[in-house]
Amino acid sequence: MSESTTRLWLKNPLAVFSEHDSAGGIVIEANKIVELVAKGAKPNLAVDSVFDASRHVVLPGLINVHHHFYQTLTRAFPTALDKPLFPWLKSLYPVWAGLQPEQIHWSSRLALAELLLSGCTTAADHHYLFPQGLEHAVDLQVDAAQDLGMRATITRGSMCLGEDDGGLPPRTVIQTEKDIIDDSERVIKAFHDDKEGAMIQIALAPCSPFSVTPDVMKASATLAQQYNVHLHTHLAETHDETDFCLKLFNQRPLDYLESVGWLNDKTWLAHGIHFDESEIKRLGDNGVGISHCPSSNMILASGICPASALEDAGSPLGIGVDGSASNDGSNMIQEVRMAFLLQRLKDGAENISHLDALRWATKGSAGCLGRRDIGEIAVGMQADIALFNLDEARFSGHGDPLAALILCGGHKADYVMVAGQWRVEKGEINGLDMAQLMAEHHQSAKDLAQRYFDKC
Ligand code: ZN
Repeated sequence: MSESTTRLWLKNPLAVFSEHDSAGGIVIEANKIVELVAKGAKPNLAVDSVFDASRHVVLPGLINVHHHFYQTLTRAFPTALDKPLFPWLKSLYPVWAGLQPEQIHWSSRLALAELLLSGCTTAADHHYLFPQGLEHAVDLQVDAAQDLGMRATITRGSMCLGEDDGGLPPRTVIQTEKDIIDDSERVIKAFHDDKEGAMIQIALAPCSPFSVTPDVMKASATLAQQYNVHLHTHLAETHDETDFCLKLFNQRPLDYLESVGWLNDKTWLAHGIHFDESEIKRLGDNGVGISHCPSSNMILASGICPASALEDAGSPLGIGVDGSASNDGSNMIQEVRMAFLLQRLKDGAENISHLDALRWATKGSAGCLGRRDIGEIAVGMQADIALFNLDEARFSGHGDPLAALILCGGHKADYVMVAGQWRVEKGEINGLDMAQLMAEHHQSAKDLAQRYFDKC
């Protein structure tokens, strides 16, 4: 071992979520897992520091594959309460039209901090609002992820089909097709890292069939192929969307997706609820990933994603908290519980366990992002690890610790490591004044709401 290299042993965890025997712990060197230790054994490699994990449940860092960070500014927004997706969106578009750069700055930091504290180490965000003055929103999001030391896949979203052309969003929040494609290429060149262990990746993400033109869908697919980046969009979220696609394109959503060149394993979709059996098979055969967003689907009463059927068909199945205006939180471990509960209700108690939901939020989510270096506790994987203790009243008297974390409602990680670096210790984010961040974020939300109400 060279002088500059240190090896850390996470020793004798209370429980580990891993396919491999690691009851004796995990050895980490630099940014990677280098050894798993069997029960009762000691590491073969020399270690120079030890973390006693005997009070911790250890998970691979959770991976959030669908979010809209800016929506943390409009949680529980009064005029958007108690509405399904389309009326909900129409209530909020005029509010979001007032977004300023400082609001992207604060909302991205707040959302990422909230995710990190819930055991999330990789976050995908779908930012599709680029009103005038907000052309560099992606740059601000990348900056926030780098400041917090988190991995992120920032998806360059887009909207260009305004109300005047039969779309849903107002003209003030859409861009021209040329502006969208030019900026998509700019952010790929500026930020996308395709190497193992990448901290920042870019994907292209036209918002939905009802807010972009087929030309932008096709041009995004071409650009994604050219630069080998992933594609993301909302699809099959509501019956309203199916009706919209039939009316405007004379196609069901999945047929439309195929017609614009998106039916392949570089694509992952948010929601994926309203697919029939033959569509589920086509998605699986083509390796299209799905981000299940259970809280959002329940709040907007959109329906229930056929998660197990999609996974069985061959689709990577991940978990997303979705935007915090339809959740209204960004807590990944709670979202695991939501997925567990909702899918168990759908498929039966014998067919869905806490282990399924944990697999979706880790290995399944990694599959959506096309990553093989995160999402599992195994030798050679990136050292992205979340540790939860069960020292709260809600866990007292528990049996199986891993089951307890989900069934009893775990909500806060005690320690979180990203790429071998501790980012959360004793429940606090290193180097971050959380109270100050919340004060800035809350003021930013008030400013956004005020701008909207002044115009009304
Ligand atoms: Zn969404």
